[in-house]
Amino acid sequence: MFHDMDFKTAEMSFAYLSKHYNFISLEELIAAIQNTDGSNLPKKAMVITFDDGHIRNYELLPLFKKYKVPVTIFLCSGIIDTFKHYWFLEDLDKNTLRHLKSIPNEERISFLKARGFDAEEEHSDRQALSADQIDEMAAWVSMQSHTVSHPILSNCVDAESKWEIAESKSALEKKLKKPIKAIAYPNGSFTKREVNFAREAGYQCGLTVKPGFNSIRTDPFELKRLDPNDTSNINELIVKSSGIQSIFSFF
Ligand SMILES: [Zn+2]
Repeated sequence: MFHDMDFKTAEMSFAYLSKHYNFISLEELIAAIQNTDGSNLPKKAMVITFDDGHIRNYELLPLFKKYKVPVTIFLCSGIIDTFKHYWFLEDLDKNTLRHLKSIPNEERISFLKARGFDAEEEHSDRQALSADQIDEMAAWVSMQSHTVSHPILSNCVDAESKWEIAESKSALEKKLKKPIKAIAYPNGSFTKREVNFAREAGYQCGLTVKPGFNSIRTDPFELKRLDPNDTSNINELIVKSSGIQSIFSFF
């Protein structure tokens, strides 16, 4: 899982990962899980995903092609192609950010409003990919859903969570004219309720931030991911992409 790597970091990361792992698309993983048959998958198969739809992801398109990365980008349907900003990129200290991720969604929104952040405000600069960029990338990149506005779904009331999950799917399908099959739960926060809403909306899988490996027996709505934290440090990338930490966390 990546978010907003710069070009140099991405070049280093893909050069390393392409040498040590075999990239497969998220669609290939889903097909293997659905058919309970992983015989078509290479050893050390790795899916590369990016969350949020950061505008800098566009600069990485030549690298996706160069290193043959069948990448998936999870887009917030209400933020892409606008000048709206991501709330979590506001200048917030760690504790405030942690607090905002733990309170009811309505309280998070009013807390941010009181600090001058309005999620609906259009700014002078883009943080998210534009429609033209997404169109150009969509020939190579699988675009999937990361909700409408990036709330912490487990802090939302039922109707909000359901709407964020279903509306982002239909909005992206309208924009991209392709079926949207996957959702990445923002912040990796989800409960059984979100899994049910995602199933009802017609998704085939959901991605978490639970660290670890996936197999053909993994619940497709609770796919695990490893997070190298967009690091520019090759040693950190080597360790974090190996999943070794998720093995140690068992002990
Ligand atoms: Zn996100």
